[in-house]
Amino acid sequence: MLPERCDVVVVGAGNAAMCAALAARESGVDVIVLERAPEDESGGNTRFTAGAIRFAYDGVDDLRALMPDLSDEEVARTDFGSYPEDKFFDDMARVTENRTDPDLVELLVRRSKSTLMWLRTYGLRFVPIYGRQAFKVDGRFKFWGGLTVEAWGGGPGLVDAEKRAAEKQGIAVHYEARALSLIHDDTGVQGVVVKHRGRTSTIRCRAVVLASGGFESNPEWRTRYLGPGWDLAKVRGTRFNTGDGIRMALEIGASPKGNWSGCHAVGWDRNAPEFGDLAVGDGFQKHSYPWGIMLNANGERFVDEGADFRNYTYAKYGAVILRQPGQFAWQIFDRKVTHLLRDEYRIRQVTKVTAGTLEELAGKLEDVNASRAVETILQYNAAVRTDIAFDPNVKDGRRTEGLPVPKSNWANTIDTPPFEAYAVSCGITFTFGGLRITTDAQVVDTDGMPIPGLYAAGELVGGLFYFNYPGGTGLMSGSVFGRIAGTSAGRAAAAR
Ligand SMILES: Cc1cc2nc3c(=O)[nH]c(=O)nc-3n(C[C@H](O)[C@H](O)[C@H](O)COP(=O)(O)OP(=O)(O)OC[C@H]3O[C@@H](n4cnc5c(N)ncnc54)[C@H](O)[C@@H]3O)c2cc1C
Repeated sequence: MLPERCDVVVVGAGNAAMCAALAARESGVDVIVLERAPEDESGGNTRFTAGAIRFAYDGVDDLRALMPDLSDEEVARTDFGSYPEDKFFDDMARVTENRTDPDLVELLVRRSKSTLMWLRTYGLRFVPIYGRQAFKVDGRFKFWGGLTVEAWGGGPGLVDAEKRAAEKQGIAVHYEARALSLIHDDTGVQGVVVKHRGRTSTIRCRAVVLASGGFESNPEWRTRYLGPGWDLAKVRGTRFNTGDGIRMALEIGASPKGNWSGCHAVGWDRNAPEFGDLAVGDGFQKHSYPWGIMLNANGERFVDEGADFRNYTYAKYGAVILRQPGQFAWQIFDRKVTHLLRDEYRIRQVTKVTAGTLEELAGKLEDVNASRAVETILQYNAAVRTDIAFDPNVKDGRRTEGLPVPKSNWANTIDTPPFEAYAVSCGITFTFGGLRITTDAQVVDTDGMPIPGLYAAGELVGGLFYFNYPGGTGLMSGSVFGRIAGTSAGRAAAAR
């Protein structure tokens, strides 16, 4: 049964929502969580993640503080490097083409480490991402790309740990409880209308935190805001993020903010289902394209696969694939690099072909101009600067010369059988446009005034990401702004 009253209502049960709920409870107020999904599908996109989380750290001592289980032996065999705040700021500015909101990014970066330490106090654990973010060089692992830790147990582990922490704090999570609208008057937000297992009711409260994700799972809004063709994208995660929180806030006069025509989208198996499949998680993604090339239906390359580390290109290349004829591409590799392919290339549900010759491979690439594909690969091979050494841990400058579409790093010739190819389409992760908030995570109206009692965190906050995104920042943003929103809502509820 839903209560008729409480102090703080949190809408959503992903990472941002659960951080908000925990933080609000610290003010000693009653907190409830409304989750639209049934329990076995709860946790939003957060549950689909690998749990990779980007934060600023100055060296191995910071990592040891976060992960006291890190053994001397692990430290000895690993070069963890550092990821200072300045580098995090630079990465955010560079990938967003200097559009990221200065006040929001300041909070994101400067509070990243302390927020993870705060989550630790609730029993969350973190581990180094050896599998995906570090390669072995001369017997030592070396981390690259600023992304070094993941939540223990990945996304499912993170969701379960946050749920356990919430239960311990006396926070009730109600499933199949879809928030429909906000109750609002001149003094601010007074409650939420909710449909719980088919029955509509009202919960009166002193503050609401919206943390119900973006509009990536709503094909009508995708087409309306992202543009034609986006109705054809596959959704990587939850089917429940249809923009409800954004809509509810706009209906009471909230100000939209950010890159409403932009989103995070990646190369995703061409035959993946319409929405994410929790049994596969993020396994449909295909993130090893920097070691190979991508061909479209015309048998041509269309993007610089080695423009930067994958963490800084993968989130914008889904849109590039969506713009290709038929909205697909094939990723091509030869034997020299197949040992570098990430584990998602070895799942059972993969669209893959193999061949002993380039001609045979091209013939197997469904819907591709085969003769042009062979020509493209041969031209590419001839353009590779093989005099420069290949090194996957650094931007090695091993590039092509003279091609209309260059490859700037990690250009290996494709000449050693067996050859492998993987078909990808565009998989949308989350949308960038959302609500305008203050540095206290309070939602702002179209006149620029904070709306009393209304806070927001996570994917539905606009202004942080434009055009692109550094891998691992979504969970960090949800944690930082979830905590801020919860703290603000808890204090406001206690005072109201
Ligand atoms: C396959 C995949 C892999 C990813 N990998 C990573 C990664 O490794 N690292 C990283 O940082 N990010 C990753 N991301 C992005 C990351 O998942 C998101 O940035 C982050 O989880 C968003 O958190 P959130 O709490 O804002 O939203 P979500 O976790 O999506 O939670 C939103 C919640 O709101 C609920 N909801 C929606 N509408 C309503 C309503 N009307 N009423 C009540 N509840 C509602 C949903 O059911 C859901 O529980 C990945 C995403 C996907 C899909």
